[in-house]
Amino acid sequence: MIDFQIGQQYYGFCLKEYSNIDDIHSKGYLFEHIQSGARLFYVNNKDDNKVFFIAFKTPPEDNCGVPHILEHSVLCGSRKYQAKDPFNELAKGSLNTYLNALTYADKTMYPIASRNQKDFMNMMDVYLDSVFYPRIYENKEIFMQEGWHYVLENKEAPLTIKGIVYNEMKGALSDPESILNNAISRSLFPKTTYGFESGGNPDDIPNLTYESFLNFHRKYYHPSNSYIYLYGNMEIEKQLKWIDEEYLSKFQKKDFDLQIPLEDDFSSMVFLEDTFSVNTKKDSIRNTFLSYNVRIGKSTNPTLIFAWDILSYILLETNASPLKKALIDAGIADETECWFDSSSYDMVFSIITKKSEKENVSAFQNIVEKTLSNIVKNGIDKKLIKATLNRWEFYLKEEHFGSRPKGLTYGMKLMKSWLHGKSPIEPLCHWNHFQEVKTLALTTNYFENLIETLILQNNNKSIVIVSPKNGKQDYIEQKFLKEMKRIKNSLSESQIEQLVLENRLLKEYQSTPDSKEVINQIPFLQINEINKNAEILPTQKVQEEYQMIFTPLDTNGIIYSQLLFNTSCVPENLLHYASLLVHIVGKLDTMQYNFEQLPLEINFYTGGINLSNDIYSTSKQNYNSFITINGKFLKKNIKKAFNIIKTILFETNFNQKENLIKLIKSAKVTSENYLQNAPHLVGISRSMGHIAMGARMKEEVSGITFYHFLIKAEQEAERNIDILISKLKEVYSYIFTKQNIIIAVTCEESSLHHYKREIKQLYDMLLDKPSLKKQNYQFSLQNKQEGLISSFKVQYNIQSGNLEDYGYSYSGKLAVLKTILDLEYLWNSVRVQGGAYGCYCRFLRNGNAYFYSYRDPNIQKTYNTYEKMAVFLEKFCNTNVDLRKYILGAINAIDKPLGNEEKSNLVIARYLTGITPEMQQKERNEILTTTIDDMRKYILLLEKIMNQQNICTIGNNEVICKNKELFSEILPYI
Ligand SMILES: [Zn+2]
Repeated sequence: MIDFQIGQQYYGFCLKEYSNIDDIHSKGYLFEHIQSGARLFYVNNKDDNKVFFIAFKTPPEDNCGVPHILEHSVLCGSRKYQAKDPFNELAKGSLNTYLNALTYADKTMYPIASRNQKDFMNMMDVYLDSVFYPRIYENKEIFMQEGWHYVLENKEAPLTIKGIVYNEMKGALSDPESILNNAISRSLFPKTTYGFESGGNPDDIPNLTYESFLNFHRKYYHPSNSYIYLYGNMEIEKQLKWIDEEYLSKFQKKDFDLQIPLEDDFSSMVFLEDTFSVNTKKDSIRNTFLSYNVRIGKSTNPTLIFAWDILSYILLETNASPLKKALIDAGIADETECWFDSSSYDMVFSIITKKSEKENVSAFQNIVEKTLSNIVKNGIDKKLIKATLNRWEFYLKEEHFGSRPKGLTYGMKLMKSWLHGKSPIEPLCHWNHFQEVKTLALTTNYFENLIETLILQNNNKSIVIVSPKNGKQDYIEQKFLKEMKRIKNSLSESQIEQLVLENRLLKEYQSTPDSKEVINQIPFLQINEINKNAEILPTQKVQEEYQMIFTPLDTNGIIYSQLLFNTSCVPENLLHYASLLVHIVGKLDTMQYNFEQLPLEINFYTGGINLSNDIYSTSKQNYNSFITINGKFLKKNIKKAFNIIKTILFETNFNQKENLIKLIKSAKVTSENYLQNAPHLVGISRSMGHIAMGARMKEEVSGITFYHFLIKAEQEAERNIDILISKLKEVYSYIFTKQNIIIAVTCEESSLHHYKREIKQLYDMLLDKPSLKKQNYQFSLQNKQEGLISSFKVQYNIQSGNLEDYGYSYSGKLAVLKTILDLEYLWNSVRVQGGAYGCYCRFLRNGNAYFYSYRDPNIQKTYNTYEKMAVFLEKFCNTNVDLRKYILGAINAIDKPLGNEEKSNLVIARYLTGITPEMQQKERNEILTTTIDDMRKYILLLEKIMNQQNICTIGNNEVICKNKELFSEILPYI
């Protein structure tokens, strides 16, 4: 790379700022494109997972959702790439490690990532062409499809409204937490941008006209208002030259005065109330959210972000957290949370309680303020501060950011400063900020002062109450229907004809496939540009008295440990108690540490110790179920970490009745949140569970059945806790034995013998129970057509089957089939034409196959679409298409870069399901050599699965009842 000089120009870009960023082993270069006014920031390092994004400042001025609709729409075809959905084409046929578009409250961001240079360039080109030259000006249909339109199929039909964003937001804003989030923003930002819903409120979206939609693009999607980010190992000069020549040199700088205005100071605290819909009286009881919210300072101060991140955790996230304790002990609510939002310029800190009652609000406010005042007066326990700081230090060292590429996480972080006129470099020096917070917190009253000045003495705050309202949804529907009738009646004959015509044109637009020529504009890699070899993790089997799997990896001194205990010996009547243990052990008092000390100890010495329920299934009938003790810690803390694991494992004190009840209540809330937030996952286990044992087990230990068990367990605990305790102890004694343990560890070679020494000691302490037999559970497997009714505004439609039932076995070629079905068929018919947010299928190695829609307005229509899948596949096979992009899509799904913790999870899953390196290579070969004839063999499979009619819909009460002939059983969901 050339030696860039500050003030010099390179391909139209002038270097403004340069700095080493040692904290992320990188160098940062900030450029400005002189002619167009675009900003470009490049982070140079050795990471091969390259990242690009372009972002625009897009502050909304109302609730019509124009930033969100535009985010969807610009990706529906552009000047160079005229296909109707280039985004989808890229998703199908690229090696992207990230591909998305995101609307924030003040900006819109278009990020991509790839490890393949050519692929990276291809995607960057499609994205830049899309944002600067979208086809939204030529095709009004894009706005209608992505945003909203009146649906009127013929003159006599009733009028209604549809649109992808319209439906997406209807789903998103029916969830109580989103309603709360939205209400908090409105309360704190009554006059400025952040008070608006940038995603769009379904009531307001229909006020958006096509013209103002286009004007928003004209105004904001200009290089002078853009932020371009490049990250990773690349030839930057080439990149700059190309961006300049292809795009930026075509634009002249425009003056943008786009400071996001700050909200005025409040003279006193604000109160705001909102409601969410429930169906029954029962759901109205103790189901209110109370929140205490404060504007706490600007996001351009990275140290302050760190401080509030850490402080939120201290105040509310552990059993030792003073605010959580005070609120729960006072009986105000069953669960507390802290929301800290640093994505807005004026950051928001919220103290949330769930499962409360409206009349508790003044007690809630008093307790919050009294507890915080006490903290300011007496100081926070330094041990709690230290433990939390240690936990943060561990995460910084681990450098793991979940499924998101590292470079993108950095990019999102720096936008918090860059968007508001500050340098993008400073936010990346995270060790500096951490050290600053650490020193201040341990030597001064730093946190106490933040609480005093930014919460207690600050008037810029609100109390927001969101409570359940019986039948609200019905009322909204009725009002909507009336309004639609009124609008239709007000239309003239010619307006009605015009609408019918527009609807027909939209249908035509949607159902006309892109020509081959247009599709071929989108660049794809050749099969020979793909790596032929499967990535094999270097696993070793260690045979001691116990079974152990060791994966040597470069982990920066961290040890990832999993102790898996087989639960197959648990008698059927105690099965749910076993999974309840997962929510209790590791949190309840032990002989060494009480309820509050235990989380402190865990944070002090580890990056987390927790229990999980894990099920690995290999076929329709066969599976293994485990309770796993997961732990990650630094090698230097191994003794302390094992001391904690041992006290959890051998010294948990089930007789701490009060705390036990607290944990059962909290497990119930966690389970309910899962049911609320991931109905598609719940539905998949539910539906698969009717035909496959492993999935059934999963449903029993974490799905709807488990939630219903928790409701009973709570009552049982209140009635006679001693019985419950004795059951917990009994099941405990079945599981944690020498015979049941399998150990998995991922770390550097040099840490292994330390680990073995600790494991040996732990193993010797385990019970020896050779006589325990594997139980045979009497789950009856039988097709079902289930409708599960809830207060959701949308549906989740799931249909499933198993390959074995039809004489098929798993092959890598099914991964190619998945890509074809997802992106060619389900996307078009269920999302684009049906108005659902998404629709996907999966074929698993254990033979399970399922199809599911996400936030779907329909039921029957979606099942009809599933039914016609075989016909689609047959047609598809007869058109003789090039399968290259579907093969790329399938390879991409298995080549995503993984963090060390994910790798260690993958190793154990492969081991327990018997997947060898040879099988992985075979699967890759199968994918790479897939032909149309291979696909043809699956036509019959799809037909058979659909004929089997094993379906499950989770959704709106009324919509399900309207379709009741589809279901053999209709039951309440929550
Ligand atoms: Zn969206």
